[in-house]
Amino acid sequence: MLLYNSLTRQREEFVPNEPGKVKMYTCGPTVYHYAHIGNLRSYIMEDVLEKYLRYIGYDVTRVMNITDVGHLSSDADTGEDKMLKGARREHKTVMEIAKFYTDAFFDDCKKLNIKTPDVVAPATSCVDEFIRVIEGLLEKGFAYEAGGNIYFDTSKLKQYYVFNDFREEDLEVGVREGVEEDGNKRNKADFVLWFTKSKFDDQELKWDSPFGVGYPGWHIECSCISMKYLGEKLDIHCGGIDNAFPHHTNEIAQSEAYLGHKWCNYWFHVHHLNTNSGKMSKSSGEFLTVSLLESKGYNPLVYRLFCLQSHYRKSLVFSYENLDNAAAAYNKIVARLLALLKESPSEVDRAAFDALKANFCAALDSDLNTSLSVTAIYDVLKADTTPATKLALIEDFDRVLGLDLVPAARRALESEKAAAKAASSDPFVAEIEAKIAERAAAKKAKDYAKADAIRAELLEKGVVLEDTPQGTKYKIEAK
Ligand code: AMP
Ligand code: ZN
Repeated sequence: MLLYNSLTRQREEFVPNEPGKVKMYTCGPTVYHYAHIGNLRSYIMEDVLEKYLRYIGYDVTRVMNITDVGHLSSDADTGEDKMLKGARREHKTVMEIAKFYTDAFFDDCKKLNIKTPDVVAPATSCVDEFIRVIEGLLEKGFAYEAGGNIYFDTSKLKQYYVFNDFREEDLEVGVREGVEEDGNKRNKADFVLWFTKSKFDDQELKWDSPFGVGYPGWHIECSCISMKYLGEKLDIHCGGIDNAFPHHTNEIAQSEAYLGHKWCNYWFHVHHLNTNSGKMSKSSGEFLTVSLLESKGYNPLVYRLFCLQSHYRKSLVFSYENLDNAAAAYNKIVARLLALLKESPSEVDRAAFDALKANFCAALDSDLNTSLSVTAIYDVLKADTTPATKLALIEDFDRVLGLDLVPAARRALESEKAAAKAASSDPFVAEIEAKIAERAAAKKAKDYAKADAIRAELLEKGVVLEDTPQGTKYKIEAK
């Protein structure tokens, strides 16, 4: 499989450290508010990556953190504490907010068919690990104490800016983000590992540590949680593109300084979902959620299809018009599958199955080209093969795409059957059907007067007949 690696800025053959096994880490949500559909774009694309790696035979272990402490409103350790801000907004404690929005996040994931990672670790459950790694960094001279806080000293590294596709002035903006600079830092890029002194006197969550009572910085949590559950070498680290700097840059700095060797080989970054008015963000107040889409009548899996229709490394613009197009595409595929389910039983043609599956894999092997993998669904539907082959292929692709296409078609078939059953037990419907049969027999016997009389009799009762090539249909008109 070829995967674009942000670290080397090229597509590379994916080779894990240990043959057949993949260790994958994902930056989880900061649980101070609902996830917006931009956040969920990242998690959908990461889910497809995980599922595809499993599909092609890898034994994947995926770990995700839940950020419930330490994330300030500027990623560069300044500004307000996001969790405190959420707690204040809702007059609740930080832990209540964290529990509520963690559950809400996983509810959204469930609706979007995003698999829960093998390990989900809240940052507050790993404070001992943070302290141990910070102590190690202090011992090795990569960290220093200033003004009561512990900082990582970026000047001790040969190379700090590893994702080189940033311009120096953008990095400076990233570090400052318009908020006043922390005068304790020796270098502008240094970042906090442990806060004891902060401007938040009301900081709720604090732990005792060798550096004083305080709380961890945001960046240290991902390095430590990854090392705790996945060991010293990571194959793939995922996240949204905004996390590349400073968050992932800082993760690499502290992990490699602590371990003394390379930590993670592949960096998978999902580009942003934007609206016409710009980037979607939790802090900007109004934002789009899965529940909002549902309240407008959209199936969350239509949003998943919308995401899969474009490449993860291109930014994507959300509009209801685009979502409507995805809904139409989704419904069309389900209708085609429903028609296949109604065909007489057939056998799976193995040769056709393998050839069409090869197209699907070729798409995803090419840097997870999900839009081409969706095209592979249409190729299956158009192919000259048996209905059983088509249904088997689409069920198989769905192990990766997670669109529930065949189950949706089966549900539609069941509801059609239930509607037909309900109609046949209605005496009025039974009478109409008997009259239609009688009229057909009269027409066959060329007794057109009787046929017309039956039509008129039914019309009197509000039943309008329509002769179509598929037989006579009827409509009951409201009187
Ligand atoms: P947060 O909850 O803010 O820590 O973000 C959770 C994930 O969503 C991170 O991987 C972010 O990089 C990602 N993310 C944030 N905004 C967007 C966006 N507009 N589009 C796609 N991913 C995003
Ligand atoms: Zn992270």
